[in-house]
Amino acid sequence: QQDPPYVFVIFGASGDLARKKIYPTLWWLYRDDLLPKNVHFVGYARSDLTMEKIRDSFEKNAKVRDNEKDKFEAFLKQNTYIQGSYDKVESFKKLQEFNDDLQKRTKQPVNRLYYLALPPSVFAEVTQHLKEACMDYGDSWTRIIIEKPFGTDSDSSAELSKHLSSLFKEDQIYRIDHYLGKEMVQNLMTLRFGNRLFGPSWNRDHIASVVITFKEDFGTAGRAGYFDTSGIIRDVMQNHLMQVLTLLAMEKPVSLNAEDIRDEKVKVLKSMPPVELKDVIVGQYVANPDSAHPEAKAGYLDDKDVPNDSVTPTYCMAVLKVNNERWDGVPFIMKCGKGLDEKKSEVRIQFREVPGDIYAPGELKRTELVIRVAPNEAVYLKLMTKKPGMDFGVEESELDLSYNSRYHGVRLPDAYERLFLEVFMGSQINFVRSDELEHAWRVFTPLLQQLEKEKVKPVQYKFGGRGPVEADELSRKFGYIFTGTYKWKSPNKL
Ligand code: NAP
Ligand code: NAP
Repeated sequence: QQDPPYVFVIFGASGDLARKKIYPTLWWLYRDDLLPKNVHFVGYARSDLTMEKIRDSFEKNAKVRDNEKDKFEAFLKQNTYIQGSYDKVESFKKLQEFNDDLQKRTKQPVNRLYYLALPPSVFAEVTQHLKEACMDYGDSWTRIIIEKPFGTDSDSSAELSKHLSSLFKEDQIYRIDHYLGKEMVQNLMTLRFGNRLFGPSWNRDHIASVVITFKEDFGTAGRAGYFDTSGIIRDVMQNHLMQVLTLLAMEKPVSLNAEDIRDEKVKVLKSMPPVELKDVIVGQYVANPDSAHPEAKAGYLDDKDVPNDSVTPTYCMAVLKVNNERWDGVPFIMKCGKGLDEKKSEVRIQFREVPGDIYAPGELKRTELVIRVAPNEAVYLKLMTKKPGMDFGVEESELDLSYNSRYHGVRLPDAYERLFLEVFMGSQINFVRSDELEHAWRVFTPLLQQLEKEKVKPVQYKFGGRGPVEADELSRKFGYIFTGTYKWKSPNKL
């Protein structure tokens, strides 16, 4: 008997995401023999395409090495393209014919993965037609993968969830937040629940603040039209940073099962009041003539695709609260922005001062645990140590786990690789459940509505800098302390 057949269908195969991410990721998984043996890939879109054209569109991104050429040809042989519309159920019957044919040939039920790499405007009709024409016959499974945006506010998100739940069971729906596939984000649970050291101090008695940062050193060039309808809060904060927050703040789940973990994440979200404008700084980058960066010559509003009076934030700092027994009073400071000084995403946990300090005033600095998600994955604990040698004083140093030295040569899978594999395996741990989504929107929707209704003007910051000074003032107000005294000596440079 043959291996059970699987079909992975990419709706929107002609699009940007398919070309940049989906096809290359499927190739890498296939190359590394991580996918089921009898797997077939079907591209589906309205465009008049052939597999040759699709191959041309993604081959560069697939980074095929010379010794992999034969395998790449074998991968392409597993691929098919179906031209069809999104609004006519007849087109979907062509897809079902493909599945039926495969079922006949292999004499086995076909498992189906449907990836909606499509604009949200067609989600509803495509899912409706899938349900009408392309489901399994009950002896295999069907899973639907969807990409953000999952709505633009509470109402639109609820409408989408209601629609999806009328067609599919929650365990068939895989909402991708690619942040959950990142190595360091996955490591958050291990660090917290796999070490006796952190557990007892992971609370309001010991932690002064939590900062979750996402910075990009480029602007919106080429994507400004799309970005202006979304803004940094919807693009990054409400989803990616919120996922990181819940993993940092949740109680230890009963087990590592998807539902146990997601139950705990939802409890955190339920303890969070909506963000208030007074706890928020929104910013927009302006040109910086002193920077050599090619994008620095024009500010956000100078982009031809951005209305002159746009108040869409390209930067935001928001202070969030988790009003439960563990976290009451601890600020969760999220900051994210474009056109900044560096590309970085990290978590920074600042511990409280040592009580009963016996050192000279000001000598001790707060212990800080930094988890750098990207680039150069690292976990480092900034702490006080005795100055080495005859000296009696103390100084700031670090315990340092840098992945590129500790795990030198280990390939960390791309977030999408890991997540695709999880969909094949049926693991929903790293996918967003509908109630998570509901509460994440509840926390941000009033702020988004107020910003838009009152046309709150973002503060300006120069392209290539650290962002608005007002943001540093806000984090200081909430107790985050920056001393600037810590000096890092990279072992690589010694
Ligand atoms: P896209 O390139 O704009 O669209 C994908 C395909 O959908 C197009 O090739 C087109 O195919 C079809 N399409 C486009 N506009 C349409 C319309 N108005 N009505 C019907 N069909 C239309 O989108 P994408 O960048 O690949 O993104 C796909 C999804 O992933 C979106 O929901 C997006 O928000 C999300 N996403 C994308 C990225 C990214 O990096 N691109 C990142 C995160 C999330 P045909 O005309 O050939 O049918
Ligand atoms: P840092 O880059 O000095 O930043 C520390 C924090 O202070 C960041 O949250 C930063 O905000 C904030 N900040 C910077 N200037 C500020 C100002 N004027 N006012 C208020 N806040 C300010 O990071 P660090 O952890 O102290 O480390 C120093 C350097 O050593 C970094 O380059 C780090 O990558 C490196 N290091 C690397 C490793 C490793 O690779 N294993 C280990 C230890 C240290 P923004 O993020 O918004 O700028």
